Amino acid sequence: MATYVFGHTSPDSDSIVGAISLSYLKNQLGEECIPTRQGEISAETEFILNKFGGTLPELKTSVAGENVYLIDFSDKAQAPKDIMEATILGIVDHHKLGDLTTDTPLECWIRPIGCSNTVVKEMYDHYNIEIPKDIAGMMMLAILSDTVIFKSPTCTKVDTKAVKELAKICGIEEYKELAMEMFIAKSAVKGATARNLNTRDYKEFDMNGTKVGINQLEMVDITALDDRIEDLFEDMQKLKEESGLHTILVLLTDIMIEGSKLLVISDDPSKIEAAFNTKLENSQAWLPGVLSRKKQVIPFVQPQF
Ligand code: MG
Ligand code: MG
Ligand code: MG
Repeated sequence: MATYVFGHTSPDSDSIVGAISLSYLKNQLGEECIPTRQGEISAETEFILNKFGGTLPELKTSVAGENVYLIDFSDKAQAPKDIMEATILGIVDHHKLGDLTTDTPLECWIRPIGCSNTVVKEMYDHYNIEIPKDIAGMMMLAILSDTVIFKSPTCTKVDTKAVKELAKICGIEEYKELAMEMFIAKSAVKGATARNLNTRDYKEFDMNGTKVGINQLEMVDITALDDRIEDLFEDMQKLKEESGLHTILVLLTDIMIEGSKLLVISDDPSKIEAAFNTKLENSQAWLPGVLSRKKQVIPFVQPQF
């Protein structure tokens, strides 16, 4: 029986590449694994797959009765609805520990570093398994994406070292330039619907019994969205009602200026003002230096609930 390997809902590049890189490693170790995904891929991930000739993992949104490995998450809200009917063999992640629990012992590789693919790189090293060129290239870009080309406060020496080693394996010296090309592909917003923008990198969290949704758009220039803000708010309101959320946050992260414009729709916006020690104006605030949802947003929002 094959094991399915997948990342979180609204999959990002780390989730998709991680499913591929972890499956390959497990296959080398004699465990039959199939990389899958829970949703459509982003323009950024498409860029990565095209660049290195990667195969798009198959879509799989139901896992009852299956064996699974999770990568890049451990929150129930980001898993398939029937995850509790699957057997979780392991978790490879770099986020806060989520609320998933298991009935059986499992393998856990969870590290407070910049990217799940950096953890996978450490696993390859641990088992002394050679990384194929194409997979190395994809892992390298996944790490450069998650760490915002090493600018994110989540980035560690382990991540920069992994990128350098992976760059050697895939034969790309100018990896920062390639990563910029990737972020430009990711920043394309022309013609995108408000719903597409609001769910591109969307995650739901159960914060002590309260449902909070947080989306993040990482862009090379967020002024490209200046005339879409009202549009985004309107759709956030709809999304909030459809998903029964208490609060929905959208972070428009400018990776060049290094900060995020925060958009808030909430039953109690004062909680968000308290979280960031700021005053909202027209339900917005500028958060200087904020690049990371997991390190600079969630740890301040969650205690408010
Ligand atoms: Mg992710
Ligand atoms: Mg990640
Ligand atoms: Mg990210």
